[in-house]
Amino acid sequence: LIELRDVNKYYGQLHVLRDINLTVGRGEVVVVIGPSGSGKSTLCRTINRLETIESGRIAIDGRPLPEEGKGLAQLRAEVGMVFQSFNLFAHRTVLANVSLAQLKVRKRKKDEADRRSRELLERVGLASHADKFPAQLSGGQQQRVAIARALAMDPKALLFDEPTSALDPEMINEVLEVMQQLARDGMTMVVVTHEMGFARSAANRVVFMADGRIVEDRTPEAFFTAPESDRAKDFLSKIL
Ligand code: ATP
Ligand code: MG
Repeated sequence: LIELRDVNKYYGQLHVLRDINLTVGRGEVVVVIGPSGSGKSTLCRTINRLETIESGRIAIDGRPLPEEGKGLAQLRAEVGMVFQSFNLFAHRTVLANVSLAQLKVRKRKKDEADRRSRELLERVGLASHADKFPAQLSGGQQQRVAIARALAMDPKALLFDEPTSALDPEMINEVLEVMQQLARDGMTMVVVTHEMGFARSAANRVVFMADGRIVEDRTPEAFFTAPESDRAKDFLSKIL
């Protein structure tokens, strides 16, 4: 579903993605881990073309990423992204936040969009909060709204960039549980996270990055019990 071939990206002189080859199949959950600055966010951002690349190819469902214009909104609907900061519209209700892009991008009628939004809010456990404003919700609840909003586009895949890093510890699990459920329902997901419990229980593969390269790409069992590279051993010894 998601395919990267020999992808290279630079910020000026800085070579941030080096010869990245990555394939994510339909229904697969890939967790990306690695030290700060290794290129994890940049990798996510190139997949839905928030960043351009200098060489290589990226395809979704066999189609190259669109260059610009209308194709980009379509791409970002098909490959949704959930960020560390939830980026909700502060002056719109929860319901309106989930409905907005459905009206604009998916061209749904308002009542149809609102009906779908309520279904999704139910799915993330927030049915009773539809008429509140983001500031009236906890961080974990806001992040679940952001997930519902991404789901409202009927995406083929979702990218998560440290979705729980900005949350207080007691709110992390409610977001991880929603993500676990999505994984069980067969959503294709690329998840940058430091939550190793999630990686162990939900991931089909763990991709370990260092210095802009994919150093390991293996099952969670293999990666956590017997990392091959010194970089991964060193990283795991610091976080586990
Ligand atoms: P973290 O775990 O801290 O989020 P990361 O693995 O997500 O790190 P990236 O954010 O992808 O790392 O950054 C990779 C490298 O690119 C870093 O050296 C970073 O400083 C640099 N970088 C990121 N964004 C930009 C930018 N917009 N302009 C210039 N350099 C950037
Ligand atoms: Mg990052």
